[in-house]
Amino acid sequence: MTDRPIHRKATPDYRWDKVDLLPYKEDGSAPFKSITRQTLFADPALAGELRYFEMADGGFSTLERHQHMHAVLILRGRGHCLVGDDVRAIEPRDLITIPPMTWHQFRATGGEPLGFLCMVNAARDKPQLPTAADLARLKADPKIAAFLES
Ligand code: MN
Repeated sequence: MTDRPIHRKATPDYRWDKVDLLPYKEDGSAPFKSITRQTLFADPALAGELRYFEMADGGFSTLERHQHMHAVLILRGRGHCLVGDDVRAIEPRDLITIPPMTWHQFRATGGEPLGFLCMVNAARDKPQLPTAADLARLKADPKIAAFLES
């Protein structure tokens, strides 16, 4: 976004005027399912970006960790998220903080689309994916194993 519109009107179905609906990730290098991305705010004068992600029922974001942080506000739908060692039920208006280097994933487990705002650093490191050993360690916790299979 190079222009600076003062007011972008919301349009139906969690879209915004002249905001492109993009694939979740550009390269196919990380696993995810049925999720789209819209960049709502990204300005060189601001050190953060605000994105809207939406996953269809049964969709999920990539299980990953990285140095940069996320601050998430659930806008629509219900689901579950993994943050570190905890699996949490999430619903509209809940706030989720993802600290640096913390495993995280969102899943639309509520039989409906799950949509959320995600505030993130503009300059960010490449996400790390879990190794087989990391996955085994996570899955040793039955609630995390159930979450990853939901
Ligand atoms: Mn992330």
